[in-house]
Amino acid sequence: MGQKILVVEDNELNLKLFCDLLRAHGYAAEPVRDGREAVERARSFQPDLIVMDIQMPYISGLELIEQLKGDAELKRMPIMAVTAYAAKGDEERIRDAGAEGYVSKPISLMKFIGSVRALLEAAAERAEEEEAAAEEKERVEAPVVPEEPEQAEQVEDADEAEQPDEHEPESPAPNVDQAENPDGDPRLPDEAHGGDEPPRLI
Ligand code: MN
Repeated sequence: MGQKILVVEDNELNLKLFCDLLRAHGYAAEPVRDGREAVERARSFQPDLIVMDIQMPYISGLELIEQLKGDAELKRMPIMAVTAYAAKGDEERIRDAGAEGYVSKPISLMKFIGSVRALLEAAAERAEEEEAAAEEKERVEAPVVPEEPEQAEQVEDADEAEQPDEHEPESPAPNVDQAENPDGDPRLPDEAHGGDEPPRLI
């Protein structure tokens, strides 16, 4: 499935046009007709991009952009604002609200899709950079890693310690036997191991 795009647009014809166009380019478009549902739908749909009409009843796209950008979870979603009339200062106001992209109606389909693609690529790059930065941060914070060699040494020590342990039980046993056989002294087996059965048999 292609990347997900939430399309918030009150005009039915525009909504269908945008969604058809996006689907024709391989995107998964999700229509939202009522701006009052936009935030909730963004949360549930988790889009890679939001296309936001500005002129809508009940709540304007500008207010929605501010709401979305004020939400810790949703603010990462890039927003492409679409506006019918570009009054002076419109674009600036929309960008100030936090929209990453801006397209004015009447829409050039080429410009619309080109802008969508550019915003998605920019978001992907940003995500990669953040991931790289996060990895770098882990590396920088990793001076804690010197603990790893210590753990490795401890493991080696454990191995070294185990090896002598394996030998120790083997060596005393024959020694006891050797001591018992030639001397025949009852004290030696008693001191060494107490009353084992083999000495008694011998
Ligand atoms: Mn509208």
